[in-house]
Amino acid sequence: MRYTHAFVPTLKEVPKDAVTPSHVLLLRGGFVRMVGAGIYEMLPLGLRVLTKVAAIVREEMDRAGAQEVLMPALLPKEYFDESGRWDSFGDTLLRLKDRKGGEYHLGPTHEEIITDMVRRDVKSYRQLPQNLYQVQMKFRDEARPRAGLLRCREFMMKDAYSFDVSEEKARQSYESMREAYHRIFRRVGLDYRVVAADAGAMGGSTSAEFQVLAQNGEDAIVACTACEYAANVEVAASLRGARVTVEVPAFERVQTPARKTIEEVATFLGKPASATMKALMMVADGAVVMVLVRGDHDANEVKVAKALGASDLRMATDVEIRAASAGPVGFLGPVGGWTGKVVADLALDDGGGYVSGANEVDHHLTNVVLGRDFQATVADLRTVGDADPCPSCGAALKSYRGIEGGHIFVLGTHYSAKMRCHFLDEQNVEKPIVMGCYGIGVSRLVATTIEQHHDGDGIRWPMSVAPYHVVVTTAGKGDDLDGAAETLYRGLTERGVEVMYDDRDERPGVKFKDADLIGFPLRITVGKRGLAEGKVELKARAEKEAVLVPLEEVVERVASMVRDQGGRLRSA
Ligand SMILES: [Zn+2]
Repeated sequence: MRYTHAFVPTLKEVPKDAVTPSHVLLLRGGFVRMVGAGIYEMLPLGLRVLTKVAAIVREEMDRAGAQEVLMPALLPKEYFDESGRWDSFGDTLLRLKDRKGGEYHLGPTHEEIITDMVRRDVKSYRQLPQNLYQVQMKFRDEARPRAGLLRCREFMMKDAYSFDVSEEKARQSYESMREAYHRIFRRVGLDYRVVAADAGAMGGSTSAEFQVLAQNGEDAIVACTACEYAANVEVAASLRGARVTVEVPAFERVQTPARKTIEEVATFLGKPASATMKALMMVADGAVVMVLVRGDHDANEVKVAKALGASDLRMATDVEIRAASAGPVGFLGPVGGWTGKVVADLALDDGGGYVSGANEVDHHLTNVVLGRDFQATVADLRTVGDADPCPSCGAALKSYRGIEGGHIFVLGTHYSAKMRCHFLDEQNVEKPIVMGCYGIGVSRLVATTIEQHHDGDGIRWPMSVAPYHVVVTTAGKGDDLDGAAETLYRGLTERGVEVMYDDRDERPGVKFKDADLIGFPLRITVGKRGLAEGKVELKARAEKEAVLVPLEEVVERVASMVRDQGGRLRSA
């Protein structure tokens, strides 16, 4: 493609609400344009990337034995009525009426439709397993569409559905999808972790998220630095420490004048924050409870709610604390005064003595021992972080932000039972088919790739999904330069390399800036001095320095770089 013919409307200024790097760079680089809130059009460069990501997804799904179908986006209400999702999906479902008043919606996901597709024709175990997928636009009326392609109302998704005769077979399908997803995420060039959504549960996980590591990710995860363990912080298990073996003397009341915060109290008493306990007053389903965690730890509300079996949990207000307790706000503790429920984190249950509030203004207790001086329900209540050991192997955990790029589930018979998607087994017994579903946000992967691969100058596309493999530019003017560039452009194209030839009449600085912004993995520059020696400059986007390569070698050099880096040469 010649730049002078290309539709690449790059921008100098981007809208103020674009702050996420992928959002900014997709707009600035002329990849996408916003049409409405959370609605984007793909310009030529954007579509080239999207198509490449989708092609990788399709190849790996096909390799895993899945078959592609295409279901409609416009769907009659009756299918969601059958599953109950017409009501339960809520405002996220984009509903509409046709001219006769018939009710429809735009598909946010297709479990019902695919279940219907299969139940019409599959009757016997002999016809199973099946794995069907599609790559299609999905619609969700997000309350707050934002961050460009990361959270849209219309987006491209790959959704696959497996159909098996048993839970065991469904797990095999799930494992095969997990493998396919590994290949997809690796080929796109992403650094990711597979996060078990129900980590710690017995019997292995039936759902996992493929989390792409990114500073701007919505999800907080921890991953082991040594093994495969990774989990959302909300479910990542913390470990009980070693038990304290020395005898702890009886607790003592000490004065802590005007010291309220953990920091102030610990410093005043000459102890580390880890020798104190924090009492958080929370309201769980209407009742005030005392939640205890070590002074240097953070209580995790999801874990606390789970430990209490509470469906509603929030911090108590000062008024609520005063009404429920005998002690003053800021000096509350589990010993004396408090008669309500107490839950304590595992870390406090080590037999050690801790500093706690004394339920009296300007006073704390030292050497308070859980189990000796007060009783509490002990549970895993805290958020694990960098300092914690991996629950699986004991090595150090590291915390990350992540963006969910894919999600795989064993669905079981949730939809098939409701929708009577049954089969006859070998004994001629009728049973619901066991399903799995597997999603990848294809357009979201484009954005997450940028989140991971960019610098101050622009995007650094991995070769496998770059809009073009290489940009050819000239530095300076002259027929000899233009001629050499033209020859290279043709030679590379014939070799199957995807080339953008920047033939604009612009200063080299402008062209280099645009090349870096758009993020071509390779740049060839034809300059006077090099050409005098029969050489051109070849520079990788990720490298600082260019190398001089003889003209007659450059086509082969580039072709092999494209291949080695996961790109694909077009066959003639
Ligand atoms: Zn580990």
